[in-house]
Parts: sequence; structure tokens; C-alpha cells
Amino acid sequence: MDAKLKVAVLGTGIMGAAMARNIQRAGHDVSVWNRDPAKTKPLVAQGARRAATPAEAVEAADVILTMLHDAAAVEEVIRSAAPGVRPGTAWVQSTTVGAQDAPSLAALASGLGLDLVEAPVSGTRAPAEAGQLLVLAAGPEPVRHRVAPVLDAVGARTIWTGDDPATGSAARLKLVVNSWVIAASNAAGEVVALAQALGVDPQQFLGVLDGGPLDLPYLRTKMDLILNDGLEPASFAVDTARKDAHLIVDAAAGQGLKLDGAVAYAARLDRVAGQGRTKQDMAAAYFASY
Ligand code: NAP
Repeated sequence: MDAKLKVAVLGTGIMGAAMARNIQRAGHDVSVWNRDPAKTKPLVAQGARRAATPAEAVEAADVILTMLHDAAAVEEVIRSAAPGVRPGTAWVQSTTVGAQDAPSLAALASGLGLDLVEAPVSGTRAPAEAGQLLVLAAGPEPVRHRVAPVLDAVGARTIWTGDDPATGSAARLKLVVNSWVIAASNAAGEVVALAQALGVDPQQFLGVLDGGPLDLPYLRTKMDLILNDGLEPASFAVDTARKDAHLIVDAAAGQGLKLDGAVAYAARLDRVAGQGRTKQDMAAAYFASY
């Protein structure tokens, strides 16, 4: 293995917990902090050190990894980690944020002397658990080398988008990827609703696509969650997808684009969130049809 690193993981939700586990499996020392400490328990049982505060988690860390809900949470948590931060520590920021958040996170990093690598990930619960995420990363050469053991532990591959995390190049690629992911998940829900309303067996619909260019494993996965009561536990929760959908809508609007589909899937996710389905998989947007 590469040199053993001390890695502080801030945020052990669906993705952060899986990433922390794989960093541990790769032989690094992992400290974990989560707002709800109960979510750190399984990691602690496997040898991670539980920190009571973000500041305690990052003390002595070589690398800090943030995997939180959004940019506001990242900013809040890193500010509260500040008393424990050693200047020169690398910060891998994997939370999905907007491109417009990149300059302020870079400024926050530089104010604390942290060497920031913007590193959102593509892939959901299962690839995260398998250490097979695709990491979309931006950061300068010398830091890339220092964080490589962590990126290699969580991902199958890293795609470097640039040297300067302040430009948001990785965040922009991530939003483009997610616009496709959320559109496909939403389409799966709509196609099931339409088929059911028209008295068409969804399996017959899949039979038409079978093996052809319109067939998509992701469509089958999401349809299966809807049809077979698989919406919980979520791989990618409504609340999270909704946050990303609005980042996409805002990014498009900022460029003067009219992305009617994105506006519609954001509205559908808002609607099912209002039905109390925030923790269900985003395929629950199906229920926005009713
Ligand atoms: P999640 O399970 O909901 O985890 C969110 C994490 O953020 C939890 O640790 C939560 O703490 C924490 N958090 C939220 N607000 C906070 C605040 N104000 N202060 C401190 N902590 C806060 O979501 P996830 O699926 O792991 O997603 C995490 C990030 O990865 C998101 O940015 C998401 O867009 C991105 N992502 C997700 C997927 C996916 O398929 N799930 C894939 C790629 C990227 P509590 O546990 O205390 O609530």
C-alpha cells in the first residue's frame, strides 16, 4: 500500500460512510465525525476513531474529506473544524456543490491554509460501497500526489478536470453528469406511471427495449425500485437529488438556458419531498405523477 495516512472524514451519510470504510480498508487511519453521531457507529466498530467535533476529527489529519449535503453544510463544518486544522493539510471536497460555490470554498481553504482538491464523485451507494466511484477532480499537481491514496481507495478512476479548484471545473462536470442521472431516474418514474395508467404491463415495455439502443440498466434499476417496494433505503435520496436538481436549474439559468426538463424534474422532486418522501430513493419522483 501507499504511505499510511491519517484521514478525517466529515460526513458519514450514505456516501461518506462507504468512502470512509474503503479508506479504512486501504489501511489508513480514519477519524470520523457526523452531525448525527449514531451514523459513525458501524465505522467505529471497524476501527475508525469517532471525533466529538469536526475540530477534533481533523487534528493531526494528513487529508480531510468532506462528504456533506451541500455547500452551506461544508462551509459550516469546515469553519467549526478550523481550530483543529493544521496549515498544509490536504482537503478533498467531495460534496456535490454548485460551480458558483467553488470560489468561496477555495477562499475558505486558502484562509485556513488547506490545500483544496475539488473532488465530487459519480456513482451511487453500491459503487461507493465497492470503492468503484468515478472521481471528478480539480487540484494542483503537488496536492494530487498527496491525496491519490485516498482517491484510489474510494474510486475506480479519477478524471482530472483542471489545476485550480476555484474555477469549479469538477463541479460543472458533476452537474452535467447529474442532469442526465436525474433525468433518467425521473423518466423511469414517468414511464411506469404512464404504463400503469394505460393498462400496459411495465415488463412488456421493457421487452420492447430489450437489448436495443434504448435499453438502459439504470432504467431497469429504477423501475425495479418503484415496482418492487425498493425505495428505502435510498441509494440517492429525494432530498439530495432535489438539491442537485436545483443546482442544475440555477446553473442553466445563469447561462440563459431554458432547460424545461430540468425545471420539471426539480418540481417533481419538490412535490414528492412535500409528500414526506425526502429519505426515499429519488425514483420516488414516480409519486409526483399523482
Ligand atoms: P446523505 O446520506 O443525506 O448524507 C448527507 C450528510 O450531510 C450527512 O452526514 C448529514 O448529517 C450531513 N449534513 C447535512 N446537513 C448538514 C449540516 N448542516 N451540518 C453538518 N452536517 C450536515 O447524502 P449522501 O447521499 O451521502 O450525499 C452526500 C453528498 O454526496 C451530497 O452532496 C450528494 O449530492 C453527493 N452524492 C451523492 C450520491 C448518491 O448517490 N447518494 C452520489 C454522488 C454524490 P446527518 O447524518 O447528521 O444528517
